[in-house]
Amino acid sequence: GKTLRIVLGDQLDSQAPLVTDYQRGDVFWMAEVAEESLHVPSHKARSVYFLSAMRHFARDLKSRKQAVDYHALDTHSWSTLEEALRAAIDKHSPEEITVTEPGDRRVAEMLRGTADSVGLPLHIYSDTHFFSTIDDFHSWASGRKSLRMEYFYRELRKRYGVLMDDDKPCGGKWNYDGDNRESFGAQGPGLMSQPTTFKLDKITRDVIALVNERFPDNPGSTERFDWPVTAQQAQEALQDFIDNRLVGFGQYQDALWHGEPWLYHSRLSAAMNLKLLNPRDVVAAVERAYRNGYVALNAAEGFIRQVLGWREYVRGLYFTHYDRFAEGNALEASADLPGFYWTGDTDMACLKDAITQTLDYGYAHHIQRLMVTGLFSLLFGVKPEQIHSWYLAIYVDAIEWVEMPNTLGMSQYADGGLMASKPYVASGKYIQRMGNYCDQCPYNPAKRSGENACPFTALYWDFLIRHEQRFSDHPRMALQVRNIKRLSHQEKSNIRDTVRQIRNRITT
Ligand code: FAD
Ligand code: SF4
Repeated sequence: GKTLRIVLGDQLDSQAPLVTDYQRGDVFWMAEVAEESLHVPSHKARSVYFLSAMRHFARDLKSRKQAVDYHALDTHSWSTLEEALRAAIDKHSPEEITVTEPGDRRVAEMLRGTADSVGLPLHIYSDTHFFSTIDDFHSWASGRKSLRMEYFYRELRKRYGVLMDDDKPCGGKWNYDGDNRESFGAQGPGLMSQPTTFKLDKITRDVIALVNERFPDNPGSTERFDWPVTAQQAQEALQDFIDNRLVGFGQYQDALWHGEPWLYHSRLSAAMNLKLLNPRDVVAAVERAYRNGYVALNAAEGFIRQVLGWREYVRGLYFTHYDRFAEGNALEASADLPGFYWTGDTDMACLKDAITQTLDYGYAHHIQRLMVTGLFSLLFGVKPEQIHSWYLAIYVDAIEWVEMPNTLGMSQYADGGLMASKPYVASGKYIQRMGNYCDQCPYNPAKRSGENACPFTALYWDFLIRHEQRFSDHPRMALQVRNIKRLSHQEKSNIRDTVRQIRNRITT
């Protein structure tokens, strides 16, 4: 019988069983709907990325003479995926609906509900794009008290023979993070080669016009859009990274620099998350670069740890512990998100740079996300749901399975320590050490109270004071918390005053 094959915007993998199982009579169904850009106010470049990649993918399916029913945003009036799907079911009268496991629970639930209500079987393919399956993660996780990424990663290294010499990790160690926490020092990163850019074809230009017309009030700009939107472009982007930036990835993966949005990062997250690029190809290319002597082991291992380790691990966590993230607020955070997150309008140099760049490109690298925007939100105590919505809206690579554990687990500790063994709190001195933001800032990262006190530093001490009880017996936080014993009564009260002023200045 005829099968309706739903291709979601983040499932653009031509090798997926959903696609390769196609038989004559089946129909691929794809729909652009406003809801996906509006349920959180999606960065315009994020919407463009999805829509352009979807249109290119549909074009390729059609060129193989496969039946595609594609609903462009400007040609129909359904506002939700569900409405559009119900209409498609009426039109095609399929005997079955199939889809690849969605990366967002909201979409998965909608599909199940819709299939049930029209009485059609829904077949969900497991997502072969990833190395591991959700069942793999589940069996690894069950019965373990602590779910540290490191151990999951080592299992995958062994199972898939990645960076292994027989049964030993290359170089004899699993982890080279010790070599990988450098900053650029006063001289800075020097002249960085600019990443390959992609010329906008007509499909992308049309989508840019459409997004600007339909979602004028959404954040961000499309002016600098030059992301890879096809599988072929994604391969070129991978090659560009291997040739020009992988070499410095390990050493400088934690570094920050004003006005340098990419540094040695790969910019491949969105291409992987939309499934234009297979992580097996990425990992293999990086391992090859190491085996050929093109890059050192700490660069290759540092990078592979991100893709084979973190990326697979956060996906497993999302699907096995969704509720811990969605409902957790372990630190009882109750502040509203500062308004400058949507505008970049702040005098704090680090936040201004990271957010302005985010609005320009829909991109920030990991340390900007974790230790600038994420850290500020953690110290300020932003409500988990609000910071989660921001991260889900604002990055071109944001899809809930990867965004949510990173934001609510790793960065905000809302899950109470399921993912991170302690909250990643630090003062402005961390930001000062890792880059040059503080040189151009009116605040002083060494000052925790009084005039010119760095808001990160004041809020850091305030955080420790506020959470003293909670963490005084915590094995990895107790030492940090004990430092407040050295503060005089007066100093504590100065910190509280400074924080009150900071909070009063920041509007939502
Ligand atoms: P690189 O620095 O070049 O890293 C290589 C690849 O490793 C990335 O492309 C990515 O696929 C993977 N990777 C690295 N770190 C992680 C991680 N922590 N979790 C999962 N994969 C990782 N990543 C997303 O893809 N989507 C998100 O919505 C997202 N939200 C985040 C929110 C917060 C608060 C934080 C702290 C991190 C988030 N990340 C997210 C992870 C990471 O910051 C991005 O993957 C990375 O910055 C993307 O840039 P890149 O491709 O240049 O990565
Ligand atoms: Fe950021 Fe504080 Fe440094 Fe300013 S002084 S750049 S606010 S860390």
